[in-house]
Amino acid sequence: MNAGRSSNCRDRGVSADHERKFGAIVTLLTHCFVISVLAVAMLVLGESTAYAKVDYSRPVNAAPKQQDIGKTYQVPPVQRVPPRSLWIYGLDVLLLAVGLVVAALVAHRWRRRWMAVAISIFSIAYFGFYRQGCVCPVGSVQNVTASFVDSSLAVPLVVLLFFLLPLIAALFVGRVFCGGLCPLGAIQDIVVLRPVQLPPAVDHWGGKFKYVYLVLAIWFAAQPAATRDFVICRFDPFIGFFRLNGTAWLLSIGAAFLLVGTVVGRPYCRFLCPYGGLLAIVARFSFWPVRITPDEELDCGLCAESCPFGAVKNLRADRMTCLACTRCFAHCPRQQYQWGDIELIEVEQLVEAHREKSLATSKPAASTPV
Ligand code: SF4
Ligand code: SF4
Repeated sequence: MNAGRSSNCRDRGVSADHERKFGAIVTLLTHCFVISVLAVAMLVLGESTAYAKVDYSRPVNAAPKQQDIGKTYQVPPVQRVPPRSLWIYGLDVLLLAVGLVVAALVAHRWRRRWMAVAISIFSIAYFGFYRQGCVCPVGSVQNVTASFVDSSLAVPLVVLLFFLLPLIAALFVGRVFCGGLCPLGAIQDIVVLRPVQLPPAVDHWGGKFKYVYLVLAIWFAAQPAATRDFVICRFDPFIGFFRLNGTAWLLSIGAAFLLVGTVVGRPYCRFLCPYGGLLAIVARFSFWPVRITPDEELDCGLCAESCPFGAVKNLRADRMTCLACTRCFAHCPRQQYQWGDIELIEVEQLVEAHREKSLATSKPAASTPV
């Protein structure tokens, strides 16, 4: 009886602590959202001032001359295509900011897989097919690098925001951008059908490639203008699908990634994505990383086999490799209990049945909350 009461008190204490932390997250995310709205307002205002001065109907010297062609020829007015309206870039930033807030809420509060899937579908449709994979945080690494080394290049505000917002989110709440908002990650996520667990050494050493690629991409982007190369964009395996016009070999590589991705969860994200490497480094220091259980860790290990990305390490979601996909949440007995799917007694039975097995193969982290 006493044991039950103290367990209830402890639950309430953990819950209150969790609520407090979550309140802080919501406050921070709200601030990020307000900053994004201000940035969008600046962009829209910018469009009506700086960009309104250009006369796009003025003739140019290269146009055919009447005397060269014949007296009866009427030279048509030369028209230039105006730059794409800035409101669409403002909308991109707004959707990215709102998407990050929603993805954070899904990973930390609502914790439902179908919500993460809905975000993935939206991202593939909008950032993928409609916006044709551009502007994209993954490629923005190169723009930012080039603007650092070349004073004649200014990185557009939109690109800078796309580069920074997912990193800021990762610092606070983990890699929620990868959870579904990134179109490259989303297209791989929806093809994960029968994932196999790779040997940890393959994950560990294979995961180092993305850092090598990150360094190479920065090095190529930092070259002088004549030899500068944006290799991340040039070798993006999924852009051909989004633009419906890729070269045969790039489409084949993309198709191979998706085919392998049916059994090896998100191979591009895990082994190659340079921006994923950057996000992993930042997420290493995140204040509120993704956690599998909604409140208290039980070290039962029921979640370990549910992660298709090898991101559950020592019975915890690894900050650097967890992609915030929310798959493992439904396997946590504490989560099932919170949803009302099982009784408390069943939680204890499940934990007892699996803990021994999982402790034999894993070493639980020293402290509970990760
Ligand atoms: S690892 Fe890279 S490609 Fe994958 S979801 Fe994250 S940013 Fe996108
Ligand atoms: S630990 Fe694995 S399954 Fe769980 S949210 Fe992270 S990536 Fe998804």
